[in-house]
Amino acid sequence: MNAVKGLLDFLARFITDYSPTHVACCWDDAWRPSWRVGLVPSYKEHRVVRADGAGGWVEEVPEELTGQVPWIRATLEALGLPIVGAADHEADDVIATLATVASGPVDVVTGDRDLFQLVEDARGVRVLYVGRGVSRHERVDEAWLQAKYGITGAGYVDFAVLRGDPSDGLPGVKGIGEKTASSLIARYGDLDGIVANAATLSPGVQRSLSAAMDYLGPAREVVTAVRTLDLPAVDLSLPAAPRDPELFAALAEELNLGGSAERIVAALASAATAPS
Ligand code: MN
Ligand code: MN
Repeated sequence: MNAVKGLLDFLARFITDYSPTHVACCWDDAWRPSWRVGLVPSYKEHRVVRADGAGGWVEEVPEELTGQVPWIRATLEALGLPIVGAADHEADDVIATLATVASGPVDVVTGDRDLFQLVEDARGVRVLYVGRGVSRHERVDEAWLQAKYGITGAGYVDFAVLRGDPSDGLPGVKGIGEKTASSLIARYGDLDGIVANAATLSPGVQRSLSAAMDYLGPAREVVTAVRTLDLPAVDLSLPAAPRDPELFAALAEELNLGGSAERIVAALASAATAPS
């Protein structure tokens, strides 16, 4: 049950380091929603194994992980760490909605750059980006985005649309790379501003953009995380101890969770007593 242990260690690490008051484990109820595929057919296409026969797609996932998913869900439930998902939407959309309605600061823990679009210093929303590993995770705020890409959180969507993102099958605008994308957004604000000022751009960039006009609008909709989901009311407050200690102990034994079980229990206790 390495995936269960890995997830518990991951959670213990972030809960210990950041002492959150609330935690939500956001789920891909759909990893490749058909409405996004309808907008940009290549979206995540390279990760599809086959159609699932119910209008969706089976994702390429290591088989040993698939078998552990029910155990992951059961363990999180026993701990009292709620799983939140939404039909026909990705975890990205759930995270975006929760971050939008949150009254306090939010740390989004993810290895997905798409969520850089949520970064907003004024509301205390940042991303703890684990793309290069948990121990080397980066705290992505507006200064980080500025230094790395020369954009704001709000500019990330249009930046990604222009540059493209091979990890999601997003082609980008042919002929426009990261540098040009970032300088265009810095200069004109967003895609609308760039298109409106197309006549002032270099002939090469003008040609690239006009060849991609049918892609820009749909791609923007694909990359934009939905912030307005109607989510069930769930208590996200972090428990000081497993909510169902007997079930958790039984799972720890059954799954041989060992030190990982001890570490998550210690993490919950430490967050509960940490000064806020
Ligand atoms: Mn992504
Ligand atoms: Mn994503």
